[in-house]
Amino acid sequence: MLMTKQLMHFLYNQDFLRNKPHRNLFNYDNPHQMRFLLYTALFLITNTYGIAKNHFPFDNIDLTLNFQKEILFIKAAYTHHWTTTDTDSIFFLFNTAYPIQKINCEGYISHQVTQKNGDPFSYLLIQIDKNKIKGKSTNFEFEYSIDLKKQNHLSSNWIELSLDKFWYPCYNGLGTRFTSIMHISNLPLGYTFYSYPHARFTHTENHTITIENNQPWYDVLLMAGKNMKEWKSTDTSLSIKFYAAQHQADSIITSMHQKVKDIITLYNSSFAAKAPIKNLSILLRNTKREEIGYQFYRPGLVVSGADFNSYGNLAHEIAHHWWLNADIINGQWLNEGFANYSMLLVLDKYDTTRRNSILTSYQKNSNGKGSVSGVTTFATNAYERYYYKPTVILWNLDQKIGRAKMMHLLAERIRVKADTEQSVLKLVQQIAGKSIKNYFFEQLKEE
Ligand SMILES: [Zn+2]
Repeated sequence: MLMTKQLMHFLYNQDFLRNKPHRNLFNYDNPHQMRFLLYTALFLITNTYGIAKNHFPFDNIDLTLNFQKEILFIKAAYTHHWTTTDTDSIFFLFNTAYPIQKINCEGYISHQVTQKNGDPFSYLLIQIDKNKIKGKSTNFEFEYSIDLKKQNHLSSNWIELSLDKFWYPCYNGLGTRFTSIMHISNLPLGYTFYSYPHARFTHTENHTITIENNQPWYDVLLMAGKNMKEWKSTDTSLSIKFYAAQHQADSIITSMHQKVKDIITLYNSSFAAKAPIKNLSILLRNTKREEIGYQFYRPGLVVSGADFNSYGNLAHEIAHHWWLNADIINGQWLNEGFANYSMLLVLDKYDTTRRNSILTSYQKNSNGKGSVSGVTTFATNAYERYYYKPTVILWNLDQKIGRAKMMHLLAERIRVKADTEQSVLKLVQQIAGKSIKNYFFEQLKEE
C-alpha cells in the first residue's frame, strides 16, 4: 500500500500549541539511571522486529486517544490471551510519569508499582483471582493522561508517542509483540499523523481517525508534526519520499536524498543484491537533535531529523532494513554490530576520515568492557558490548578475509535468516573456514 494514502492531514480550529521550554525524555533524577534508560530505549527503538515469540492469537491493545489542548486522555484496553505459564500476578510495563486514574479487569484484587527481576523498567503488578476468569482472554482496562507540555515536544510542533515514552501498558515487558488500534479524536490544529507505513488509516465521522496495525510489533507508534510537507524524488528507479516541516529547506532534503540514494545503491549492489530496498520513506522530525538525539527504523520508514544529515547516520539506520531480526534481549549485537559494519562500508567509500575516527573511538570505548558473546540488553556495559565492540570485530574480520567474502557472508545471513550468534558463526565457518571462525569467535568472547 502506498504511504501517501495513509498519511493524513487534519485542520482544527484549536489553539493547541504554546511555546514551552524543553523537557527531558525521562523524568528521572538519577543521571546514571537516565543514561541507562536512554541507551536501552535507543537500542530497542532501532530494533523492534524480532522473531515472534508470543503465542497465537496475539494480544491486542485498543487505545482511545482524546486530545484536550495540551492533555492527552487515554483509555487503553489490553486484551490478553491466557497461556499455561501465566500466574495470578500479571506484569505490565508502565511509565510511572503517567499516573493511572483507573484500572479495571476481571478478577481484579490489587495492583502496585514494582520491578521485575533483571529488568530496570517500572511495572504495574496486578494481582487477580484466576478463579473468577471465565474466558480464554481478559481485557485489562487502564485510564490515564499525558501532559504533552511536560512529556512531549509540543514546543517544537512535534508529538512523538513511541517506544521511548513507554506510553502504553505492555503485558510482560518489552519482548512482547501485540497488534494495536488507535482511535484519535480532537486532533490538534494543523498536525499530520504518522505511524507504521503498513498501518491502516481510516477517517471516521466526527473527525476521528483510526490507525490499525494488524502485524504484531513490540510498540505502538504515533507521531505527528505541524504544517508538514511531502517531498518526492523524480527518480523512477528508486522511490524515496521525505516528510518534513514546511519550513525545512528543500536544499537540506535534496542533500539528504542524495546520500540516501547513494547508500541504498551501495547496499543494493553489494550484499543486498538479492534482497534490495525498492522504496523508503524518511520522516524528519520537527525537533533538534539535542531534543531527540536518536533515529530509528521501521520497515519502509526511517525516522530522523534534518541535523542527522550525514552518510554515517543515514547508513546505520537504513542498514536496519536487513539487520533487525535478532532477539532484542539476547541478540542485540547481531542487529547493531551489522548495522554499524554496513555503515562502515558506506564511509569507506564516502568519508574515510569519519570511518577511521569511528573505529578508533569504538575500539577505545569498548576495550576491556566485557565480551560480545553472551551480552544481554540489561548486562553491565551492554551498550559498549553490543554496539561498539562488534563493529570493530566485524571490521577486523573484513580486513582479514576481504570484502568479497564479507559481502557473501552478509548476503547469506540475509538469505538463510541467520539471526543468532550460533548461526552466524556457522556461516563464517562455511565461507571463511574453521580457523577464521575460531579467530572471530575468540574476539567475540574476549573480555
Ligand atoms: Zn541501530
